[in-house]
Amino acid sequence: MQQRLNLKQFHKRSLGALLLDQGLVAGLGNYLRSEILFYAQLPPNVRPFDLSREQLKTLADCIIGVTRQAYQTAGVTNREAWVAQAKAAGEPRRQWRFAVFERAGLECHRCGSVIERKMVGSRRLYLCPNCQSA
Ligand SMILES: [Zn+2]
Repeated sequence: MQQRLNLKQFHKRSLGALLLDQGLVAGLGNYLRSEILFYAQLPPNVRPFDLSREQLKTLADCIIGVTRQAYQTAGVTNREAWVAQAKAAGEPRRQWRFAVFERAGLECHRCGSVIERKMVGSRRLYLCPNCQSA
């Protein structure tokens, strides 16, 4: 995955666009883009080219790890402890299943900042402005 991110056709494109490119990873859908960027703690405007070795490794691990978790859990990409917290707060499934996606206006599980919704590449993207400030 790290090698793919470093390929000439990918490494100078913003992650917000790149993560939806089926040429990078086939089958990676819109909600996974937000979830992967949150766990990698990166904003959508950065490019693989801009990342440190450590950040690139974390991003590669998150692309594989979050996608695999989604496949194994029928779409739950949130952490177990955060799911419990969100359920206790009365969030419906469409919100507790995600760390940031569909959670605009709610608090970030990690830091308590308010999750924001933006349009990136004409698709909805959700992020924590504090955790993903890079
Ligand atoms: Zn946060």
